Amino acid sequence: MPASLLSWVPPHCPNPNCIYFNTLSPDWPFIRKGYFARQRRPHRIQRFTCRACKRHFSTQTFSTSYWQKRPELVKRIVLMVVGCMGNRQMARALSCSPSTIAHQVARLGRHCLLLQARELARISQVDEIAIDGFETFEWSQYFPFHHNVAVDVESGYFLYHTDSPLRRKGRMTAEQRARRLDLEAQLGKPDPKAVQTGVRALLAVFSKKGLVTLRSDDHPAYARAIASSGIDLTHRVTSSKERRDERNPLWEVNLIDRMIRHSTAAHKRETIAWAKRRQASIEKLTIFQVWRNYMKRRREKGDRVTSAMLLGLASRPWRVRDLAGSRLFFEKTRLSDRWRDYYLRRVKTTVLPVNRTHELTYAF
Ligand SMILES: [Zn+2]
Repeated sequence: MPASLLSWVPPHCPNPNCIYFNTLSPDWPFIRKGYFARQRRPHRIQRFTCRACKRHFSTQTFSTSYWQKRPELVKRIVLMVVGCMGNRQMARALSCSPSTIAHQVARLGRHCLLLQARELARISQVDEIAIDGFETFEWSQYFPFHHNVAVDVESGYFLYHTDSPLRRKGRMTAEQRARRLDLEAQLGKPDPKAVQTGVRALLAVFSKKGLVTLRSDDHPAYARAIASSGIDLTHRVTSSKERRDERNPLWEVNLIDRMIRHSTAAHKRETIAWAKRRQASIEKLTIFQVWRNYMKRRREKGDRVTSAMLLGLASRPWRVRDLAGSRLFFEKTRLSDRWRDYYLRRVKTTVLPVNRTHELTYAF
């Protein structure tokens, strides 16, 4: 066993009901309690017992691969998700089943939600953001939705996202109109205020961060969302018809949109790998978000600088192991209501009969 693992000290008790879960105390009474053997490296895993709550745990309890049969997959999946591979393609490349991939991506997405929430809490001041509704769909083109995305104008840091299910609009044949009517009779119409609600939820996370200016296109729901958010800010509107080059005030958020399309299989134009569930699209978007902020450099050529480095949140570009190095605890992370729903998989795809939520168990 490597010496680093022998001297490793657990940071806190992993039991959320123990007083030593949140209290970092040098007096925490834990003891080392032997090892267990396993087939994968490292073969010997140190065990511990918390003497306060009697919970047994091990070094594995603090690892992102806790309770996983194929722990090596997590790290390989990160770059595949942002490298435009669909779940089936990943399954073939990694010799496992598509359902294993689906579970692993969901779990990685939850890890990234906690990571981004922790990082957002470290940002105390955000002066100016640009927002946009990234348009895509779940299940079929009858179920379009927006990922509402917010970007820091200075650094290009992808700050936050929410979702808004929409009604199918635009040009349709008579047959398509009839089909839409049918589906709406069965499942109900999406809330016509969904964009306003989604953007207001997005703005709420900036209410205590000193936001001064918001840039967006001329979508009418944005002004209403700002008015109802109670935040006093200057709204700088740019027509969506304006040329989308580097001089466009919405450049940074347009760039995020383009990169999401470029990097995610589900969002390529004319793809056959579209998202089946909005929930899964949210999880993948959050993996993209962490990669974009901490791993991807601002420019492909030139300095190795990431958006997170510009904000002083990181001192170098991250590698996959920085992202997936150690487990984050749901109970230790402050999430907005919206992101709590995302973590617990409460986003429903109405056309599908089964929408399984995430029950917190050992396999977080
Ligand atoms: Zn304990």
